Amino acid sequence: MSVSTASVIADHVLTPVESKRLQTQADTDTLVAAFHREQLRWSNVDWVVALFLIGVHAGALAAPFFFSWTGLAVCIVMHWVTCSIGICLGYHRYLAHKSMKLTPPAEFVAMVCGCLSGEGSPMTWAATHRLHHHKSDQEGDPHSPIREDGWWSHILWLFPKRSTESGRVLYRRYVPELVDRPMMQFFEKTFALWLWGGGLTMLVAGWVFGGWRMGVSLVVWGMCVRMVAAYHSTWFVNSATHLWGYRNYDTRDHSRNLWWVAILAYGEGWHNNHHAHPAVAPAGHKWWEVDITWWSIRLLRAVGLAYDVKDRIPKGRRADDHDVPTEHAEAAQGEIPSALTEVAA
Ligand SMILES: [Zn+2]
Ligand SMILES: [Zn+2]
Repeated sequence: MSVSTASVIADHVLTPVESKRLQTQADTDTLVAAFHREQLRWSNVDWVVALFLIGVHAGALAAPFFFSWTGLAVCIVMHWVTCSIGICLGYHRYLAHKSMKLTPPAEFVAMVCGCLSGEGSPMTWAATHRLHHHKSDQEGDPHSPIREDGWWSHILWLFPKRSTESGRVLYRRYVPELVDRPMMQFFEKTFALWLWGGGLTMLVAGWVFGGWRMGVSLVVWGMCVRMVAAYHSTWFVNSATHLWGYRNYDTRDHSRNLWWVAILAYGEGWHNNHHAHPAVAPAGHKWWEVDITWWSIRLLRAVGLAYDVKDRIPKGRRADDHDVPTEHAEAAQGEIPSALTEVAA
């Protein structure tokens, strides 16, 4: 008999606290099973995800045959727009960690940029990322290279098909404050349309202004090459920065600061800093730890589009302080809903 079945049958004799504890345990079991490596079987592959990623990589291989300077320029600009503004600023620091507030128009644009990255809906991204902070390098971490291996954490964890029920549990538990927001519901339904619409716009615009080869060039460079580069940049944060690099903070996980990932992923490579202080907007904590996304956040703040930016590391807990505590409560919890604190241990 499952835990949830037992709780229903025995509901009338369980106290609310016991009932909640059983539900919490059942949810934990659901998520641990959903993100377990044994889900990766030929009979359980999410072929929509797999074929899309294979297609994008195959398209990138055609890049030398369809080179154009316009295509390269679109690739570089869109890489920054989707990866730094969409993922690093929008999905990660704003949505998952609430390290700043954005005005509604800025929030909408940041979420569109995130959708154009091809990394899924805002809520799926934020919920999965909060799960990573909650369970970093422990059982239940969706992509730990320590518990599994580098390939699993880099890309393979994306391939298993996951049930609707596990998605519901993930949302209920990790993004409860987002699920009823109309804007999030809107992007939940339309995130793929933005991506396909972006590709179609490039194809048509290139074709109209420069002929069919320019249309294909914009798709190959502006979509395929750009997405492959951005995918691996962000995936290295899940794989490489839990394996290699140095540590400023003695967090309970294996997160590390890795300079080349910080360059590729617009500051996210200072991952040990981030795990130590997940809600702090700047990821570079020493003067030479360059964080390009932080420059954009400062600009948005200067023009009034971002406000209440959490830019202070608590005194005594900075990277340069000598008495950095060995176990940070903040690092242990990540920026996850307060309802979770009781189940974090
Ligand atoms: Zn991490
Ligand atoms: Zn994070």
